[in-house]
This record gives sequence, structure tokens and C-alpha cells, in this order.
Amino acid sequence: MKMINLTINNIPVSVPEGTTILQAAKQIGIDIPSLCYLKDINCIGACRVCVVEIVGRRGLTASCTYPVEEGMKVLTNTPAVRASRKTTLELILSTHNRKCLSCERSGKCELQKLAADYGLDEDRFAVEEELVPIDYSTPYVVRDNNKCINCQRCIAACSKMQSVGAIGNIRRGYDVHVGSPFEMGLGSTACVGCGQCIVACPVGALSEVSNVDKVWAAISDPAKKVVFFTAPSIAATLGECFDMPVGTNVEGKMVTAIKMLGDVEAFNMNVTADLTIVEEANELINRVKSDKPLPMFTSCCPGWIKFCEHNYPELLPNLSTCKSPQQMFGALLKSYYCEKNGIDPKDLFVVSVIPCTAKKFEVERGEFHADVDVALTTRELAKMIKGASINFNELPDSEFGDPFAIATGAGAIFGATGGVMEAALRTANNLLGGNNEALVFTDVRGTTGIKEATYTINGTEVAVCVASGLANARKVIEMIKSGEKNYLFIEIMACPGGCINGGGQPYQFDAVRNFVDLKALRASVLYKSDDANGLRKSHESPVIKALYDEYFGAPGAEKAHHLLHTKYTARKKYN
Ligand code: SF4
Ligand code: SF4
Ligand code: SF4
Repeated sequence: MKMINLTINNIPVSVPEGTTILQAAKQIGIDIPSLCYLKDINCIGACRVCVVEIVGRRGLTASCTYPVEEGMKVLTNTPAVRASRKTTLELILSTHNRKCLSCERSGKCELQKLAADYGLDEDRFAVEEELVPIDYSTPYVVRDNNKCINCQRCIAACSKMQSVGAIGNIRRGYDVHVGSPFEMGLGSTACVGCGQCIVACPVGALSEVSNVDKVWAAISDPAKKVVFFTAPSIAATLGECFDMPVGTNVEGKMVTAIKMLGDVEAFNMNVTADLTIVEEANELINRVKSDKPLPMFTSCCPGWIKFCEHNYPELLPNLSTCKSPQQMFGALLKSYYCEKNGIDPKDLFVVSVIPCTAKKFEVERGEFHADVDVALTTRELAKMIKGASINFNELPDSEFGDPFAIATGAGAIFGATGGVMEAALRTANNLLGGNNEALVFTDVRGTTGIKEATYTINGTEVAVCVASGLANARKVIEMIKSGEKNYLFIEIMACPGGCINGGGQPYQFDAVRNFVDLKALRASVLYKSDDANGLRKSHESPVIKALYDEYFGAPGAEKAHHLLHTKYTARKKYN
């Protein structure tokens, strides 16, 4: 690889050819500010906040798009650079609705941070503009264009990363703004609810629909029994909301904190990740033995399900009929748990803590009979813990409650791309009479967008594919439809890297997001937790065995089919 030598603020630096000035500066500890740049997603040099001086070149240059050159001398902090950035930021602020105190993004807003760093006068160019209506048309995302700074990051995330295109630019010139087609509310589009636009947004123009108040109301209602359950990835990310390093496992503190919110119980959703695997592996083997459609696609990601319903309705018979772990848990709590504990299901208030906004949409789907009452994102759980004045960082560890305390390592890795596939392979391997020791399937691990492998299990060839990010899912589907590829089983997660990178996960400033591999660091928590677990195969979990012995009978049996499986609905592009 050819190396390029240059100086930045008189400090020599050597970086590979093709590196941008912004990336090269990071190598020597300089975080050049930016608002529109988002690594791998949006690199358009539009906001002009990242400008620098190049000695011998007229004017200022956007460092996020400009590649380094041999012998180049870059200055990132001259009076001209500072004055330009300050004026640009003041102009951006002039049309921004500056309700910082009540803003969802306060404390994690890139614009608020830069305003403080550059000592801005927020009223220097203040314009009295009429407020535009806020889009509340979905049960998961709120779009407030009054706070939008037109950085284009959400549009790039939705179009390039997800190939959905539910939002784009509307009108021209000064009137240009982000909107859904024909100014329909987002709820009338083919938006899949992944929330990747929320985490891409540098300000508070996009946020989740908050269910925090509903949960506080249920906790203070003496007629309600409140139970929480947390998705596999939450313990791997919640610590970031309390300034812990990325990749810190906070499971024990998380359980303690939930129990301190009131008279509530905390259960482990990894249990229904295990249950999903047992039902799904059983379904796959039945499909292979019968003439039911193959390949089979996983069904645990509601963002992927809605994408398929809108874009590939002809593939709905290929989706596993298993409910997602969230909906399986809700159904289990409102049936088995209520019966076991003499609780009327209408008095049980079920709260799932999940990594994304798509699961808020899933909760509201008609098929599920309100099995889960509300879904909270990782960020919302953190907000409740902070609102209860709990000193999270100092908490002792606690354990999840019975009868849903014990889960396997296979359930834990569900939160990372390839995790569902690996967990399924461990169980399918046993069911097909393969090598009982086979535990780690490295080909399906890692954060690459599309992974494939073929395993021979007791003479049966099992070709699998794993895709994360919906643009990658679309590529895989098109390859299957054209006959270029042929698989037996396919895992799809809407969010790149899987749920550890979901749209409800903690916000990180660009200085971290653009330079730290969040997906790999967060996923490492799940794989370490799997390694440390004495139980690695879903079907070997004592909780799962007890559920089948006491309640369901057998995988796929009538009761299991009734409570743990579902159906899907073909949707138009715009409905
Ligand atoms: S939630 Fe996902 S699909 Fe919907 S607008 Fe945002 S990025 Fe696009
Ligand atoms: S909504 Fe957010 S991400 Fe989208 S253009 Fe506006 S400021 Fe940028
Ligand atoms: S990948 Fe996970 S976080 Fe993302 S939409 Fe699917 S279930 Fe939600």
C-alpha cells in the first residue's frame, strides 16, 4: 500500500493513499468537527464545518472529502478556519428550533456540542420562522423538521444502507427539506421502522416515540403487575448511556436497576431466543422433509419482515413462521406465566427492552393481541434509570428472575449478525445427527454485510447465508431470484451488524462513531458471554426443556404452533 507523507498543524503524518484529511488528522489526535460526514454512509462535503487550510491552495477545503497528497501542509485551526466554522454554525443555528432543554438529543447533540466548543451567539442571525408540523404518523419515529439542519445523513442511511428510500429531499433552494414522498406521513410509506435514520441524525430532528410515561404509569398502578424483559444486546450497550467504554457488559447492573424502578420483575429475553431456535430448527427440518418452500428466511427481525412484506411479498411463504423472541416472550408471559402464577393476563403489564424502533411497530401489529404492552429502547431504559436518580455505575449485580433466568450462550449471540444462524446450526447439527461437539461456526461471524458458508452435517449439505443491512438483504434476494445463488437457510437482520447496532441503541458522538468499530466491540460482549456460559445449545437449556415438558408438549406441537408462530401480510409500497 502506497503511503502519503504530509504535515497537519506542522506535525508529520504518514497515511495510506486515498485517506482523507479528516481521517489523517484523527491519526494524530485531532478531531476535525463535522456535521454531515458519516463514515461509509454520507461523505458529501455539504455542511462546510470540517473546512481546513491547505498551504498554497486558495480558500478553505472540506476535509471530509479531500484526499491527502504527498508533501501537503494542512492547518486545521487558523483564524480563517475558526471564523468560517463559527459563521457556518451560527447560520445553521439561525433556522434551528433551539429547544435544547427539552430536546431528546440534549447532551448528545453534535450541534449543541459545537455551539459550546466555538462559543456561538445562537441569536446572531436569528430568523423568526413559522414552525412546520411534526410527523407523528408512526408508532416508532418522530420527525421534527424544525430541528433539521439538512445534513442529508438520514436520507443516505435510508437509501444507501437500507435501500428503502422512505425519505428524501423535497422542493429546491431555500425551501428544500427532508420529507416522505408527497409529504405523506412516514407511516404511509414503506418505511420499515429500523431507526437507522435516528442514530444517523446529528441533532434531535429524529427521535423514537417515547413510551417512558406509560411505563411509569403502569408501575404506579396498584392493579398492575409489571414485568420487564431485556433483549440479548441491551446488556452489551446500556453502559454507554452511563459513559462506560463501548463493549462493557452491564447485565448485572441492568437487572438491579430495573428492579429498583419499582415493584417490577426482570426476565431474560435470551430465553425466547433459545425457544425461537428450537422452533425454527424444527421448522427448517420439516420443510426439508416436506415440499414446503425453501430457502427458509429467519423471522426474528421486524424491520426485515416489513421490508419483505413491502418489497418481496412473493417470498412471504419462505419466511419462518416463528414469532420474534419479543413476541414469543409476550405470548409466554400472558399464557404460561399468568396461569402458573394465578394472574389475570389483563393485569399483567409487559415491557420489552429492545435495541430498535421496529419492535415498537411490531408490538402494535394486529396479529399479536397486545402480548407485549410497550417496547422501550435501550435509550429509554437509560432515561428511566436516570429519572429515578439511580447511580447506575455504582450498582451491585443482580440476576434475572425465575422462571426465565437461565438462557444459553446461543441465546446471547442473537444480538449480533450471524448469531441466529450460529445458534440454529448448533441445534440443527444435533437434530441431523452431526458432530455433537460442533459449537463455533466462524464463517458466519463478523460484521461483513453478506456472509455465506456450506456445512455438511451427517451427509446433508447445508448452504447458509447471513446478511445485515437491508441493501445487502436486497442483493442476496436478487441473487437467489436470478438463480445465481442457492441456499437452504438465510438469516437477515435489518441493521448493519445486527441488533447491537440497532436504531434504539445509545447515541455516540461522531468522534467515536466515525473511528471506532462499534459493531465489533459491542458484539464481542455477546461472544464472551457465550464462551463463559456452560450451556451453548438452545435445546439443552433447562428452561426450554421445562417449557416443553410442562406446557407445549413438543416443538411445533399444537399449543406451540398457536402461541409461538404467526403469519405475514403483503403490503403495497405506499399504503
Ligand atoms: S426508520 Fe429506517 S426505513 Fe424508516 S425512514 Fe428511518 S432509515 Fe428509513
Ligand atoms: S433529519 Fe437529521 S439527519 Fe436528516 S437531514 Fe435533518 S438533521 Fe440531517
Ligand atoms: S436488526 Fe435488530 S435492532 Fe435492527 S430492526 Fe432488526 S430487530 Fe431491530
